[in-house]
Amino acid sequence: MSTIVQNYVGGGWREAAGSETLAITNPASGAEIGRVPLSSAADVDAAVQAARAAFPAWRATPAPERARVLFRLKMLLEEHKEELAVQLTREHGKILPETRGEVQRGIENVEHACGIPALMMGDTLEEISRGIDCASWRQPIGVFGIITPYNFPVMIPLWFWPYAVATGNTVVLKPSEQDPLTHQKIVELAEKAGLPEGVLNVVHGGQEAVESICDHPDIVGVSFVGSSNVAKIVYTRAAAAGKRVQTLGGAKNYLIVLPDADMDATLEACAGSIFGSSGQRCLAGSMVVGVGEAHAQIRERILDYASSIRVGDGLDPATNMGPVISASHRDRVRSFIDRGVAEGAKLTLDGRSTTVEGLEGGYWVGPTVFEDVAPGASIGTEEIFGPVAGINRADSVEDAIAMMHASRYGNACSIFTTSGHAAREFRYQAGISMIGVNIGVAAPMAFFPFGGSKQSFFGDLKAAGRDGIAFFTDQRVVISRWSNVSSDPHHRKKGQ
Ligand code: NAD
Repeated sequence: MSTIVQNYVGGGWREAAGSETLAITNPASGAEIGRVPLSSAADVDAAVQAARAAFPAWRATPAPERARVLFRLKMLLEEHKEELAVQLTREHGKILPETRGEVQRGIENVEHACGIPALMMGDTLEEISRGIDCASWRQPIGVFGIITPYNFPVMIPLWFWPYAVATGNTVVLKPSEQDPLTHQKIVELAEKAGLPEGVLNVVHGGQEAVESICDHPDIVGVSFVGSSNVAKIVYTRAAAAGKRVQTLGGAKNYLIVLPDADMDATLEACAGSIFGSSGQRCLAGSMVVGVGEAHAQIRERILDYASSIRVGDGLDPATNMGPVISASHRDRVRSFIDRGVAEGAKLTLDGRSTTVEGLEGGYWVGPTVFEDVAPGASIGTEEIFGPVAGINRADSVEDAIAMMHASRYGNACSIFTTSGHAAREFRYQAGISMIGVNIGVAAPMAFFPFGGSKQSFFGDLKAAGRDGIAFFTDQRVVISRWSNVSSDPHHRKKGQ
């Protein structure tokens, strides 16, 4: 019997009251490596009460002291980076260079949150009227709920909770039930760094835990990342309960290649974007549109590249691409490929029957390439979240953008060109929030906002950057009069 992960409540590890558990597996072998409890509403309530109790003292802790805890956490994360990356490959499946990259991206958020004394400053203006000054103070609000997906189980929780606690709030985190193990280690490190009990609490589970977070009267705000359908449910439900909410959803990202692009560099960027993490990134490119003669050039390069990808265990240095997260997700990706064939697209490379010798129980989908994807076809508009590319041709950049706009998503997109004018026009026309210019994965770093538009994002303040600080604080504006002496310059002594 494998170990059941525990909830972390009020600074202690405890079993969930909910008795049902799910298997956590190594996606490269299918072997069970742990079990996760499906926590109940009572478990969520216990965590909220611990977070609530911790709030007054944590809020009263000076910002530089809160930052020092995060600084110590950053050092511990650096120290344990390799161990975290290896554990992450075991439970997620992506290759070691990718998990190292994910841990690094997570650390960068902790690093950014260390600057909280400066980031959290408000604004002041003297003399908004005679003898009256005005100042805004950014204050924490209370207990935040944070709900995260499986595809970046280290980085995405770190998009939120370091900022939430740096600003003086307390947190109930509900990680993905599919790969919660590596973040458990991070919680241990946070405790070692001196994060006081109750400031960060973790409740494992699925739908019931999420709904309890949305409904709980003592939770003031919710940050969510996951698929768009769930993002919309969480957005609606938590907002109806009066909370501030930010929910980041799914994606269908287009990569548009112009004839003047540097084709070798473009291939590298596009291939990494499409097949990296087996396509399980919200910034993964999935449709490549070659404009005019760019089409033949990028098509040939992508097909050569995709055919040479070596699929296998992410811990094997010879592997280029790992498995997908679960058997059910593998079946979902395969069914999308079936659908693409039924919709009449040309299946040039088929990864449906890929297996890996000695690891037949793993969740494999090989690199897959479709061509001639018809307008409106589901494989051109819906999120597949697997190593599946579509390659289309467009006569003009306007036609390519029109194909992109047929999708309901608006997370990321990229253009490849050596023309500054074309790149500038693209930025103007794209209508999508994260835009790459000669970049395959248009990922903003921690000090910029992360989030999409259309059905990829619900809310207004995005993750990280200044938005993250604004989301976790309320601006309290103080208008003061401290004198009955008019500040009319004629009433003041010279030099004052
Ligand atoms: P998911 O929507 O299945 O799960 C996300 C979270 O919601 C998990 O914690 C899960 O337990 C919970 N959940 C699942 N179903 C629920 C339900 N019916 N009611 C309430 N809660 C529920 O997403 P996933 O499969 O874990 O992650 C992949 C998705 O996340 C993709 O769509 C991807 O594009 C998206 N994603 C988006 C971003 C972004 O920045 N926009 C980043 C990463 C991932």
